[in-house]
Amino acid sequence: MPRRIPLPPILSNKRNMDFHAYDFSGKRALIRVDFNVPLNEGRVTDDTRIRAALPTIQRVLEGGGSCVLMSHLGRPKGREPEFSLSQIVSRLDELLGLSVKMAPDCIGEEVAQLAEGLGRGEVLLLENLRYHSEEKAGDEGFAKKLAKLGDVYINDAFGTAHRAHASTAVIARFMEDSMAGALLATEVKNIEKVLKSAERPYVAIIGGAKVSSKIMILENLMDKVDDIIIGGGMAYTFMKAQGGAIGASLVEEDFLEEARKILKKAENRGVRLHLPEDSILADRFAEDAEVMVGKSMEIPEGWMGLDIGPEATEAYRKVISNAKTILWNGPMGVFEMESFSAGTITIGKAVAEATENHGAFSLVGGGDSVAAVNRFGLADSVSYISTGGGAMLEYLEGKELPGIKAVMED
Ligand code: AMP
Repeated sequence: MPRRIPLPPILSNKRNMDFHAYDFSGKRALIRVDFNVPLNEGRVTDDTRIRAALPTIQRVLEGGGSCVLMSHLGRPKGREPEFSLSQIVSRLDELLGLSVKMAPDCIGEEVAQLAEGLGRGEVLLLENLRYHSEEKAGDEGFAKKLAKLGDVYINDAFGTAHRAHASTAVIARFMEDSMAGALLATEVKNIEKVLKSAERPYVAIIGGAKVSSKIMILENLMDKVDDIIIGGGMAYTFMKAQGGAIGASLVEEDFLEEARKILKKAENRGVRLHLPEDSILADRFAEDAEVMVGKSMEIPEGWMGLDIGPEATEAYRKVISNAKTILWNGPMGVFEMESFSAGTITIGKAVAEATENHGAFSLVGGGDSVAAVNRFGLADSVSYISTGGGAMLEYLEGKELPGIKAVMED
């Protein structure tokens, strides 16, 4: 019977064993990391995810073990060279301060020999798992072949934990010892904090393009938060649902009814749901568009709301400044264009200020809000930035993530 080593007590307190207590001496740790990083002409343009995996790798090496790292990169259709993980080796070398060996594939005789030959303190990076379609299919035979490459399995790939793939959800069945790595455990701990033990007032800031992708989070948070702040393109579906004129703004006609239900639910539960009173309007979707400020419920024909307006920004800022817990997912506008970035910047600064000056706990997640926080230099001023977009969303929706379940004690 394989041993499953549980996450820290926040998730399971049945056994007092965890990654930090494990003896890695002389062991080969097979670690599922998330090195799905952006590249430009073969160079890593954002190494956040690689950095996030370092504590786990270093802990294994310092404990006298060796590491076999496995990850996916992008969505290759077969062995396309632009998706080769060999492109990240030099960055990984620099960050770890050692010379990482690159395997020609992730399974096979040659790879098995490379893994077998690893000495203490050495690191081997396997080639892109998704060069094999069996990875995404969650194929047992493939998982078994991977399992042979290590003595102990660690899942540290939070960004992929919502996928039931061979290297995340299946492999633990074939390993003697399996556990969550430092990153996965930290991500879980921080999300659990906002889901289960948030200090009040608790404010959720939800933005981004679409209501459809945020409906489930809104539903799940409704029982937990005091305020929900809505921004971004999704706000206009709520405006239209209440009979507002939204001009050419983004709208999801199929979700008008759903938006009405959310509004009703918030009212019934006593949750204050804030919508932007005013917006920055543009006559087209372009950086150099004609711009004016207008009421979000009275947008003229041909104009579109691309950012929250000054009144909404100020109102939101006040709500955020009183918060003790803040969850932020999704930008307030088209922050990639300077003309429509002010709302997101001010909200980001308000989150940073509540964190630094009032001791609020702030969790930022979802690809675009993380990009915004980084871009506006606020990364060090929030409590925690999640490395998982889709995984964090699903966790917040209340779903069980297969990659986490697989390494928790059953
Ligand atoms: P999401 O992936 O749903 O979180 O959406 C993020 C994207 O929404 C970003 O690329 C923003 O540019 C975009 N976005 C935010 N506000 C608006 C808006 N008012 N109209 C159109 N797109 C928006």
